[in-house]
Amino acid sequence: MDDFTNLRVSPPQSVQEALDLGHVYHDQLVAAMPGLLVHRGDTILHCSATLARLLGYETTESVQALPSAMALVPEDDQHTEKDVYARCLKGLIRSQVRRIKRHRADGSIQWFDQLMESVDWGGQPAVMEMLTLMRPLAANAELPHQEQLLQAAIDAMPNGVLMLDSDLNVEGANSEFYRLWDYPVGMFPPGTAVGLILTYNHSRGDYGDVPCEETVAALCNRFRVKGIYNSERRVPNGRTLDIRNAPRADGGYVITHHDITDRKRIEDELRQAKERAEAILKELRETQRQLIVQEKMAALGQLTAGIAHELKNPLNFVNNFAELSGELLDELLELLEPLNDHLDDATRVDVNDLAGSLQGNLRKIADHGRRADNIVKSMLAHSRGGGGEWQTTDLNGLVEEALTLSYHAFRAQDRSFNATLERRLDAAVGEVKLVPQDISRVLVNLFTNSFYAVRKRQLICGDSTYKPTLMITTETRESYVSVRIRDNGIGMSPAVIEKLFTPFFTTKPTGEGTGLGLSLSYDIVVHQHRGRFDVSSIENEHAEFTITLPRSVTAMSLGERRKT
Ligand code: ADP
Repeated sequence: MDDFTNLRVSPPQSVQEALDLGHVYHDQLVAAMPGLLVHRGDTILHCSATLARLLGYETTESVQALPSAMALVPEDDQHTEKDVYARCLKGLIRSQVRRIKRHRADGSIQWFDQLMESVDWGGQPAVMEMLTLMRPLAANAELPHQEQLLQAAIDAMPNGVLMLDSDLNVEGANSEFYRLWDYPVGMFPPGTAVGLILTYNHSRGDYGDVPCEETVAALCNRFRVKGIYNSERRVPNGRTLDIRNAPRADGGYVITHHDITDRKRIEDELRQAKERAEAILKELRETQRQLIVQEKMAALGQLTAGIAHELKNPLNFVNNFAELSGELLDELLELLEPLNDHLDDATRVDVNDLAGSLQGNLRKIADHGRRADNIVKSMLAHSRGGGGEWQTTDLNGLVEEALTLSYHAFRAQDRSFNATLERRLDAAVGEVKLVPQDISRVLVNLFTNSFYAVRKRQLICGDSTYKPTLMITTETRESYVSVRIRDNGIGMSPAVIEKLFTPFFTTKPTGEGTGLGLSLSYDIVVHQHRGRFDVSSIENEHAEFTITLPRSVTAMSLGERRKT
């Protein structure tokens, strides 16, 4: 029988000696190699030479000649094994590691560590068993009873155990230790210096490029730490081991190795799942926030439109009667003209003064009435959205047109104003289905706000080197296009950004802004075109507005949407 555990040798002093030991024990080491058996429960398809020898057969053919794989299974285990094989053949067990018994040729029983896998063998499912010889319990028979008990106890442990004496020489190890570290069983017999094991690990590349002596010295020092400590190691076969070093009262050490690969994998999966859940939650919160804003905006838009409607008629009366009163006053003055000579000087001056004041007041009423009329018209634009036609439009062309229009309009009011206009218009943006009239209104509003912001900064800072600049970028991504307008004007505080889309919110002085531009733009982009409106800014540095539109959206006017 290939029983190398009974052979007594002095421990190896070098890696070379350990390897030489491998030669000396050539047969025994081969025995420690996994034997391979492939079968379909009944038919044996393949048996490796190693396995044939481990089972005490002369040739592989003699194993293959057995009536079935069950012939190798002891009576007691046959019922269970049949079931396991059947499940493996059905693919219900993909891979499994167990300890099992098998019949040897002479009828004796041999324990093995078994890795069983379901494999495809010539297009048919088959069971593949890799069998590694376990230390036979009989090998302990020569040891004193207490030692036998101890060896039996550590062999039965599900964890790998390595015992070291106070000089860090191996005193013993169980087969799980050899399995976890992928060492041939018995490679490091009692007396082997632990440094040699570490040197072996280094030679097979466990520690990467770190110099050998340095690594071995550092790891040996770790063993000598007084007190229990745990460390985690990933071994080359992909397992993660939790290694616990516990000093013993006699100066030696017990080092246990716990395979935590599955726990680590589950922890990793849990962490990833948690991260995914957090990301989804964040996205949901953001969507919820946007929905609330959208609803608020829609409600405010309707309110605005309602108020505007109510104001429109009385305002028409005010404007018309102011105009009519002006005309009536002119007529009255004409009629009174011939009577002028009958009035004394003081009365004539009083009459003329009163008539002048009356005319001035009527002009003011007409002026402010016109302003109020403009505001009401803007307010009504909220409810009128979607009035324009949906058209396939060259978006870059529309941006260019709106930019030129806004720039000239702004310069018409302030001839001294100049700004650098940087365009990064991506030709790939091409044509987009939108309502050009409404998107143009959005763009003009954004450009005008930017010109206002850069001009304001120029006037405030008085720095002759300051260059008012607008950068206009268009981009296309998947089924979306975007227009980004960035200016280096006064920027906005977070408090301003918060209220930006609220109707009537303005920071401009009375007469210069209505606070309706962005709220109307938001309605057009988000509700009418199902797009997004994004803003970012740093005060006194920049402001950036990005509108993102779907390339094509079902033509549905804002009016229609609101009715739903
Ligand atoms: P209005 O221009 O009539 O004030 P808007 O709705 O267009 O109305 O703009 C609301 C407010 O948003 C402005 O008063 C201003 O405070 C701020 N704002 C808009 N665009 C910019 C910009 N490019 N830079 C700084 N502030 C801006």
